[in-house]
Amino acid sequence: MPESHLLVLTFPAQGHINPALQFAKRLVHTGVRVTFATSVSAHRRIKSTPQDGLSYAYFSDGYDDGINPTDDLENYLGRLKEVASRSVSDLIRTFTDEGRPVTCVVYTILLPWAADVARMLGIPSVLLWIQPAAVLTIYYHYFHGYGDLITSKNNDPSFTIELPGLPPFTIKELPSFLLPPSNYPASLITFEELFRVLDKESKPRVLVNTFDALEADVIKAVDELEMIGVGPLIPSAFLDPKETSDASFGGDLFEKSRDYIVWLDSKPPSSVVYLSFGSISVLPEHEMAEILNGLLESNRPFLWVIRSAETDTDSEFWKKVRVAEEEMKVGLVVPWCSQVEVLSHPSVGCFVSHCGWNSTSESLAVGVPMVGVPQWTDQPANTKMVESVWKTGVWAKVNRDGVLEGEELKRCLDMVMGGEEGEEMRKNAVRWRDLAREAAAKGGSSDRNLRAFVEEISNLP
Ligand code: UDP
Repeated sequence: MPESHLLVLTFPAQGHINPALQFAKRLVHTGVRVTFATSVSAHRRIKSTPQDGLSYAYFSDGYDDGINPTDDLENYLGRLKEVASRSVSDLIRTFTDEGRPVTCVVYTILLPWAADVARMLGIPSVLLWIQPAAVLTIYYHYFHGYGDLITSKNNDPSFTIELPGLPPFTIKELPSFLLPPSNYPASLITFEELFRVLDKESKPRVLVNTFDALEADVIKAVDELEMIGVGPLIPSAFLDPKETSDASFGGDLFEKSRDYIVWLDSKPPSSVVYLSFGSISVLPEHEMAEILNGLLESNRPFLWVIRSAETDTDSEFWKKVRVAEEEMKVGLVVPWCSQVEVLSHPSVGCFVSHCGWNSTSESLAVGVPMVGVPQWTDQPANTKMVESVWKTGVWAKVNRDGVLEGEELKRCLDMVMGGEEGEEMRKNAVRWRDLAREAAAKGGSSDRNLRAFVEEISNLP
């Protein structure tokens, strides 16, 4: 039997690369050989740390000189499928020719064609679902019997739908791709293709970036799928205080300066509001102005990631930011940071987030309560889970124009960082942190699940 060699393929967006890379690293720890591959342009931006057993490779997505795939997700997905299918199949053939054949392909969401490529080459493949099991379950039901009901109610945001194995979700809490006015039909078609691929197998395994205790019931909710919790997929350094390696996760892709850690060091414990809306969403400046007012009103120090912060302007908003930074020293705006490191800093007391799944699971894993400001895709569902299932935060309400107003932000911060309700949330956050650490530790549920998976695929004929 050839030595196990897993090829981990990921869609080239930060929110996909981060968990897939952590997954690849965890696999290596189980003793198998792993190649981690993403698009040419994303590969160029990854500062890889050498690790025995882990190699890096790339495939063409048709945009080798670079494009932000989420800028034009719709056109991108079609081209990706066409070009990358060929490129990945060439890559796999090269490995065979070099005497290190791929024995299993692991692929992240939005790459359903990877399963077809693997099948054509006679190699087993497994989906790595980088969102929570709850979202996987929602999509599953949407494509297996509940699509018409959801579509018929989708102009009624407060209609409550009962999906098997899940708490009740209102329409507006569902992933945005399922709802109008979704401007992303190709994304929904790609999810549909993903489920068509899974439907070809009886009870396919799906590796999920969650852990058993976090979604105990949901993981078992769909009889037709074997969901395997292998998360939270964040660097072990942040889950096990004894580990020191690999602590520069996330930040090592784009980081420019680490002054913000020094700034955080100067603040009292649990006092700082950390704000980030992920690697894709951009809030309009008038909403950022509202947020800034809310922060100043709440009178708490804040560290805010604004990716456009490099292009400083003369607007009122930026003038006010500079005053907060320079004169009052209450705020710091950075274009990027090492997020898990920031969240783990003792001065951080709350995370105002778009609730992308990585940000949410990082927050849960290090025990920081949240104010959720979801924008699109799985973020509303994640925020709902944070607020009403895990109870570690609150969903900030937006006004009729979809804007978070300063007053509402202040209300949410006062609730999460002070008061009785907040105390409960902070306690819950610590409880989930401990359970996340337990799951990821040697012998914990995610560690056992991963080892059992590796054992099974290593023994496949
Ligand atoms: N991130 C980071 N530094 C930042 C902002 C984000 O390292 O300044 C990382 C964050 O830790 C997370 C990822 O980028 O791992 C964002 O993924 P998420 O799923 O939260 O949101 P997306 O970017 O996909 O919307």
